[in-house]
Amino acid sequence: TDATSIHREKESISNTANRIRAGAEEFAFQAEVSRLMDIIINSLYSNKDIFLRELISNASDALDKIRFLSLTDKAQLGEGETANLEIKIWLDDVNKTLYIRDRGIGMTKDDLIKNLGTIAKSGTSAFLEQMQKGGDMNLIGQFGVGFYSVYLVADYVEVISKHNDDTQYIWASTADGSFSISEDKENEQLGRGTLIKIHLKEEAQEYATEAKLKELVQRYSEFINFPIYLQTEKE
Ligand code: ADP
Ligand code: MG
Repeated sequence: TDATSIHREKESISNTANRIRAGAEEFAFQAEVSRLMDIIINSLYSNKDIFLRELISNASDALDKIRFLSLTDKAQLGEGETANLEIKIWLDDVNKTLYIRDRGIGMTKDDLIKNLGTIAKSGTSAFLEQMQKGGDMNLIGQFGVGFYSVYLVADYVEVISKHNDDTQYIWASTADGSFSISEDKENEQLGRGTLIKIHLKEEAQEYATEAKLKELVQRYSEFINFPIYLQTEKE
């Protein structure tokens, strides 16, 4: 059946990711977070655009945090590129992968484990309840679980993050109940901040076009106090 083949495909994506990262540690999502992700990844909700609003909003929050820290400790900001408080978005249309990178505060290994999966916020069950009553997916951000909306468009996500207090780590998940964490020995060093790699699902290929991304960035950047750059892979 289709479901079986989709499952196999997901399994192979996740196996590949785990094979590449020999030292990866596996963590189970907290039960309600797992249920929420299941609803999101299988959702037929048509306004999938909101995932980018949520990721831009998280990037902006992370930039606010490092800017605030730097007021009392200028060294936290770093030097050169790292000090540019900006958000960059680009597309690899060959691999159907979308990237969003901020030079915000970043996450330590511990932050990744706690903030993206093992600690349920009060909003998790509240939002689940709302969704069961036919509530609007669009309100996800108000429940403090906006990050997971990325699975409206993704079948595999990596969050690569570097915080001043730790080395660079990779969080990875196909939203199948677990995520992996590994020290990042494969990607370029970010200096500081977070890079989110979004592998687009078959049903979300409309986001693999620059025109669509341009429209969304224009729409969502209006309320953001940091510059957002949209660039092509070829540039
Ligand atoms: P909220 O933003 O309402 O707290 P989210 O589900 O959007 O809820 O994000 C969960 C948490 O993950 C955030 O509170 C933050 O600690 C962390 N996080 C998500 N994205 C980033 C990012 N780009 N940089 C740093 N931390 C992030
Ligand atoms: Mg958020």
